[in-house]
Amino acid sequence: MNSRIKRLAVAALATATATLGLTVANPAPASAAMTICYNTSQAPSYAGIANQAASIWNNATNNLTLTANCGTNLRIYQITGGGSYAQRTSLGNGRVYIDTQQAAQYSPLRIMTHEIGHILGLPDNYNGNCAILMSGGSAGTSCTNPYPSTTEANRVSSLFAGTLSATDRSSGTSSQIFRDSWPGLLTVG
Ligand SMILES: [Zn+2]
Repeated sequence: MNSRIKRLAVAALATATATLGLTVANPAPASAAMTICYNTSQAPSYAGIANQAASIWNNATNNLTLTANCGTNLRIYQITGGGSYAQRTSLGNGRVYIDTQQAAQYSPLRIMTHEIGHILGLPDNYNGNCAILMSGGSAGTSCTNPYPSTTEANRVSSLFAGTLSATDRSSGTSSQIFRDSWPGLLTVG
């Protein structure tokens, strides 16, 4: 290869590299996605479950990202008895309590994604439909579906995008405790 051709080849390669670099380094416009830092230090038995639940929500939604142990927007606790529940202080902030007794009977991943769903703005929807995450324990112990429906996921995305009406938005962002999400052990048929 003579030197001129070699220079041309190098220049072409540089151009190709620059083009490739431009493509890779030109992602979607920066979003104002909220990072929700969750902390599992008080729920050591469920840290892996929490990570799975975070991935499910991250994959299903836009405008928010659940990230482990970078802060304390969401504290996750494990308790024994009394039922799993969620305490939302504002959209994306609060506490989730996982009852170890319920988690031995119901799918712990479904419980975790459900309770986090409350923190992400969703109410309970006890309609017995296993395809609905917020139907919680009403779908029975055989229901292990941990995925939000498209409707549920889209509502979360909309809440975090801030595109809903003030009234509609307030129901998903208010300070609220969601108890009795799952039937007690003695009431399960
Ligand atoms: Zn619930």
